[in-house]
Amino acid sequence: MLVMKFGGTSVGGAEAFAQVAKIVAAARAQDAQVVVVTSAMSGVTNTLIAAARAAAVGQEEAYREARLSLLVKHQVVAGQLVADGVERAALGRLFDERLRSFERLCRSIAVLGELTSRGLDVVSGLGERLAAPLLAAVLRAHGVHAEAVDATEVLVTDGNFGNASPLLAETRAHSQERLLPLLEGGVVPVVTGFIGATVEGIPTTLGRGGSDYSAAILGAVLDANEVQIWTDVDGVLTADPRIVPTARTLPELSYSEAAELSYFGAKVLHPKTILPAIEREIPLRVLNTFNPEHPGTRIVKELSQVGHSIGTVKAITAIKNLTLINVAGKGMMGVPGIAARTFAAVARTGANVLMISQSSSEQSITFVVPQSDSPAVLSSLRHDLGSELQHHWVDAISGRDDIVIVAVVGSEMAGTPGIAARVFGALGDAGINVVAIAQGSSEVNISLVVMQGDADTAVRRIHDAFHLDKLGAAS
Ligand code: ADP
Ligand code: ASP
Ligand code: MG
Repeated sequence: MLVMKFGGTSVGGAEAFAQVAKIVAAARAQDAQVVVVTSAMSGVTNTLIAAARAAAVGQEEAYREARLSLLVKHQVVAGQLVADGVERAALGRLFDERLRSFERLCRSIAVLGELTSRGLDVVSGLGERLAAPLLAAVLRAHGVHAEAVDATEVLVTDGNFGNASPLLAETRAHSQERLLPLLEGGVVPVVTGFIGATVEGIPTTLGRGGSDYSAAILGAVLDANEVQIWTDVDGVLTADPRIVPTARTLPELSYSEAAELSYFGAKVLHPKTILPAIEREIPLRVLNTFNPEHPGTRIVKELSQVGHSIGTVKAITAIKNLTLINVAGKGMMGVPGIAARTFAAVARTGANVLMISQSSSEQSITFVVPQSDSPAVLSSLRHDLGSELQHHWVDAISGRDDIVIVAVVGSEMAGTPGIAARVFGALGDAGINVVAIAQGSSEVNISLVVMQGDADTAVRRIHDAFHLDKLGAAS
């Protein structure tokens, strides 16, 4: 069985939908059982979220305009690719009905003047609920027997709105019950990515970019042989091609390398995508919808000869919009439990600590959190360390915004001397100041902190220093 996920640009317009239909039809000819997972059409999720936010501050034109533009956007594709009049009319009614419910939701958000994370999940998941029935109809028009499935019926999650986690046992039971009969009947289920529902049936989302994660979850619970992530680039590259135009496709990565890359900002995969795959040892492939002949990137448990020969350093990535938090004080040394209280205060805010850094002295604790979480983190620290501040064990709790973590990833870096020296040498030559480095970095990555203005140059310089534009060259 094969799970194929198509991202926003892969269903960005009529031409892209037709291309997806060709790819699915070809896969279906090879493999009897194919599950498709789709994202919303590109830009739709952003439009929905912006409209809901505007509604919350009383701007009601935004959602009215959004409803119309979204209706047209989906109808144009149906008009071009769904020839059957009955099918097209049914789709038109479905779009209209779902978009009217979007308008009603936004109206109540405007009346309440408040947007809850629960309400936002209902609105933001609507893009996938428009795209899946459309893609299923397009597939049928291309001779593929397909049926849209709302993931709220199969993907059961906790109630952590906006960033929900799957409940795997429940998801397995529901998915097998709902999808196996379709697959056995020769039907291709077209499942909405990104969304799920709690045990009580309340809609949730898995976080932005979460359709990759949906595909991996479904692959795991259905015991698929492979999960394919179809996107708009030739696989996972040595760097973000928008920053480094000479970046090359990595033919193979290990689960841990791919996990590090996605965690440190390689948007091509949602950071949690690897987790369900690891559990069942399902290989992942990242492929290009617009260049389907390209072999893309295979992500596997153990690297083959190909993976080993790529080089010690495989890829450079960057995660932006972070804050470096510093808790400092000459009296901190020898006072037990300050580190524990510091991280307990951070944990209470729910903020994700991306990196704990090595400082030049033992008189400070330095770590990095998303900039959006930094006000809550700082106030929680000032509250919880109140008595340390009073005793002057801690002198200052400060945050520095516009920070970027640059990560250099490759599983064979461990045990290879001189990598860090080359990284710092490349940055030194470019006059880039390294604000901090990671403490006890994992075996597969070296990460360092630079200012936002230096980040792209830092990525390019390190990419050059390891000759990543010539994959397989000595590095
Ligand atoms: P989709 O809509 O298919 O999910 P995304 O926009 O989420 O696609 O992810 C694909 C994009 O990720 C690429 O177009 C590319 O700009 C970006 N990207 C960032 N880092 C990398 C990388 N290391 N390799 C490939 N693409 C990357
Ligand atoms: N449509 C969702 C988003 O834009 C999920 C995804 O594309 O993976 O975040
Ligand atoms: Mg994506």
